[in-house]
Amino acid sequence: MGGEPRGLRRDRARLGQVRLFGRKLRRKEEKPHFRFYPGAYAEGGPLVASAKPCDCCGQPCVWEYTGNIYASTDATVCAGCIAAGYLGQIFKDGYSLDDIELETEVGQALSSELFERTPGVACFDPFEWPVADDAPMAFIGYGADFEKDSEAVRATTSAFSKLGWDDQTGPSDYALLFRPLGGGPMRAVIDLD
Ligand SMILES: [Zn+2]
Repeated sequence: MGGEPRGLRRDRARLGQVRLFGRKLRRKEEKPHFRFYPGAYAEGGPLVASAKPCDCCGQPCVWEYTGNIYASTDATVCAGCIAAGYLGQIFKDGYSLDDIELETEVGQALSSELFERTPGVACFDPFEWPVADDAPMAFIGYGADFEKDSEAVRATTSAFSKLGWDDQTGPSDYALLFRPLGGGPMRAVIDLD
């Protein structure tokens, strides 16, 4: 017991000890990884540090979701509840975190992971979320943050030229950048306002 202050020892004795017998309290993960939006915690992303209570789990958010929720009611929710798929408990009529279309159909599990368990990507207009190998691609960021990245420059220039805008080169705020989940070449989607 060494140098433990007597007062502290007494207080603890009075409070009693909570014995968990080696069991861990079940708690959602505070900072889960989102494979379709790995940069969701970065500056400018939809998850921000916050102690506001989450309307879903009742605990401090730690990481509060500040993006859009397409549902009949409004709520403050945390990253942990998004990843764990708990939002259905408060949005009983259904909800979506993105107002987008998938480029091609994917399986139900993948589509619900993207729309219901991944933070939404802020955009000007609904866009077509690219698909590779039958899975949604991972959103890796906005063009403006990749101006020095030669692969992003190529991907963006190519996406603009498909729209017939051959004089538009290089990443911009209008370019959303994606990469296949398993790695592979970057693709850009142009999101015009
Ligand atoms: Zn929560």
